[in-house]
Amino acid sequence: MGCPFCSNSLEKTATRFPTEFWPEGIIARGQARVFPNRDLFHTHYRAVLILGTEHHVDPREFTPEALVAGLEAAQTYFQQANRDTPGAPYQTVN
Ligand SMILES: [Zn+2]
Repeated sequence: MGCPFCSNSLEKTATRFPTEFWPEGIIARGQARVFPNRDLFHTHYRAVLILGTEHHVDPREFTPEALVAGLEAAQTYFQQANRDTPGAPYQTVN
C-alpha cells in the first residue's frame, strides 16, 4: 500500500476532521498538515502533524520555514480544539 504520508498518498489516505470541527478536513500551513490520528478511540483530539510530504527528511535538513509552518498548524489545531471543547488544559506536540 505504500507510505500513507507521502505526497501521492496523503490526500487519499489521511483521516479527516469532522466538518463541524474543521470544514476542510485537514489543517494546512505551508507544507505542514494536521489530521486526526487513526486510532481505536475515533476521536479528533489525537492528531498527527507532518512537516511535509517528502518520505524522509533528515532532522538537520529541517528548515526554519517548515518548523514554523508545523508549529503554526499545531497552534491552529490547539485553538480549534479549545473552541470545540473549552478548558482542555493540556496540549502537546511530541
Ligand atoms: Zn512516506
